[in-house]
Amino acid sequence: EAVVNRIAAGEIIQRPSNALKELIENSLDAGATSIRITVKEGGLKLLQIQDNGSGIRKDDLPILCERFTTSKIRAFEDLSSIGTYGFRGEALASISHVAHLSVTTKTRAESCAWKAAYADGAMVPVKADSSDSSAIPCAGNDGTVLVVEDLFYNTPQRLRSLRSATDEYARIVSVVMAYSIHNAGIAMSCRKTAGGSSNSTADINTSVGASVLDNIGLHYGDTVKRELVHVEAASSELDVEVNAWCSGANFQAKKSTFLFFINHRYVDCSSLKRALEAFYGTLLAKGTHPFVYLSLEIDPTKVDVNVHPTKKEVAFADEDDVVELVCEELAKVLEKQGE
Ligand code: ADP
Ligand code: MG
Repeated sequence: EAVVNRIAAGEIIQRPSNALKELIENSLDAGATSIRITVKEGGLKLLQIQDNGSGIRKDDLPILCERFTTSKIRAFEDLSSIGTYGFRGEALASISHVAHLSVTTKTRAESCAWKAAYADGAMVPVKADSSDSSAIPCAGNDGTVLVVEDLFYNTPQRLRSLRSATDEYARIVSVVMAYSIHNAGIAMSCRKTAGGSSNSTADINTSVGASVLDNIGLHYGDTVKRELVHVEAASSELDVEVNAWCSGANFQAKKSTFLFFINHRYVDCSSLKRALEAFYGTLLAKGTHPFVYLSLEIDPTKVDVNVHPTKKEVAFADEDDVVELVCEELAKVLEKQGE
C-alpha cells in the first residue's frame, strides 16, 4: 500500500514547485497576509513556508496528512464547486508520502505553538529518539510554518530526473512571482539558503499594499509595466469576470509571458494561450511576443481541472465564448489607446 500511495503522491507532486504551489494556496486560504518562503537546493533539500494565517488547531494535527482531510468543505453546495480547487485534502497527504514533513502552528486561541511531524500520511515522533508521535508544545508565532525536507528521498528515480537545483529554483521563483502578482497587497518573500543562516537577500520581496501593476513592475521591470493596459470585462450570461493587464501594440519581448489565474488558482489553459498568441500575432512586429496577466472568475462548476494530474492545465465550459470576450475587450482597449 505504501508503494501505491507513493506513486499516487508522485503524480500530484511532480517537482518542488508543484508542492510549493499547494503550500502557498493553503497559506492564502488560511488568510495569511505574510508568506515567507525559504528554499535549499531548488527545494529538494528544503522547502519552508511561514505564514501568519489562522494556524491549525492542535486537535486537527493528527489527521492533517490523512488523505481527503480538508477543512474547506463547509456547506453542501461547496461540494459542487470542488472542481475549482482541484484536489481536496490531497496536497499535504501527498507531500507526506514523498518527503519529510513537519509543521509548527499556532492559532490565536492557543497559548503556545505545537509541532508535529509526518510520514506516509500519519504523525511520527518529532524527535528521532522518541517513540511518542503526539504533537509537542513549543514557542512560535500565530500562523503556520511548514517544513518539507528531502523531497523524493524515497523515489530515487524521480529525484534523478530532476537534476538541476538551479532549474527547480527558477520554477519556484516563477510560481512565487505569479502568486505575489495575483495576491498583490500581501507580503511575500522567497529566498534561497545554502547553510545554517538564511540571511541572504530575498529574490522576491513584495510589500503590503502594493498593486498588481506594482508587483508586475517589480518582477518584470518598468519597461514591461509601462506598456501594459488594464482590461476588465464581465458577462452575466457566461457568468464570468475578467481582470487583466496586457501588453500593447508596441510591446517587444522575445518570448511570451502568460500568467493565468482561474478562480484564483495559477493554471495553464491552452485555448486561452492559443487565442492570445493568435491575437497578438497580427498586432505585434514579427519575432516579438506578448505579456498577459489574466484573472478569470468563472462559475466553479464549469471548470474542469482533471485534464492533468497536477491540475495545472484546466479547461472550462463556454471556453470559446470567454476567449472571444477577452480578445474583444482587449481589442477595444487597445483601439482607444491608439486614438
Ligand atoms: P485542502 O487545501 O484541499 O483542504 P491540503 O492537504 O492542502 O488540502 O490541506 C489540508 C488541510 O490542512 C486544510 O484543509 C487546512 O485545514 C489545513 N492547512 C494546511 N495548510 C495550512 C496553513 N498554512 N494554515 C492553516 N491551515 C492549513
Ligand atoms: Mg490545499
